[in-house]
Amino acid sequence: MIAENLELINARIAAACEQAGRPRDSVRLIAVSKTKPAEMVAEAYAAGQRLFGENHAQELTAKKPVLPEDIEWHFIGNLQRNKVKYVVGAAALIHSVNSAALAKEIDRVAGNRGLTQDVLAEINVGGEESKQGADADEARSLVEAVAALPHLRLRGLMTVAPPADDPETVRPIFRRLREMLAEYAPLTREPELFDQLSMGMTGDFEAAIEEGATYVRIGTAIFGAREYPAPAPQPPENAP
Ligand SMILES: *Cc1c(COP(=O)(O)O)cnc(C)c1O
Repeated sequence: MIAENLELINARIAAACEQAGRPRDSVRLIAVSKTKPAEMVAEAYAAGQRLFGENHAQELTAKKPVLPEDIEWHFIGNLQRNKVKYVVGAAALIHSVNSAALAKEIDRVAGNRGLTQDVLAEINVGGEESKQGADADEARSLVEAVAALPHLRLRGLMTVAPPADDPETVRPIFRRLREMLAEYAPLTREPELFDQLSMGMTGDFEAAIEEGATYVRIGTAIFGAREYPAPAPQPPENAP
């Protein structure tokens, strides 16, 4: 099941690349395995998938040691500052740097460990509909703040588009992120390395590829729908 899903997604990525006149190897697929057991990651790995995305530090910490070492882990979720120590060095790329304070903490931990951590700045291009990421008007100052930190390597930008039935409605968001990448490159220390765009999920990845995505983050179409935590237990009916 997972192998077939991956085959189908890879074919759709290839078709979108062709449609956009881009080489297939200019887009990398991150299989988003959050909430799914390590067994399912192993199944995707057996089918050839090597990049996986997680959004909770604890889940990354639990899965990484029980799975093959050549998996490239990507951290894509909202990262609390007290969890940074679990993610620095464990993730090849942290996609979700959404504040200067978080960037500073990642820089501090990376520096203590003698590492340089690759990161993306997460931008809320869509405005109010989506809550994650720096607002578009704060994006430039976030990029400047991250670029100034010695133990971070700023590789590009990431966005999560609001859910949309028709991916055409979010295409302008992807286009805008690509424009921001070009606008902000001169602000970075190594502009030639500031070339990654993480955008596109199950519902909208083809439009994202057509607009320049270099990473697409796909969960549902590979692993199936996620079950959300069960609702909190209710008190017994005749409780006071
Ligand atoms: C869960 C998640 C995804 C994957 O979403 P799907 O719609 O299941 O493909 C991608 N990016 C981020 C940041 C996520 O949290």
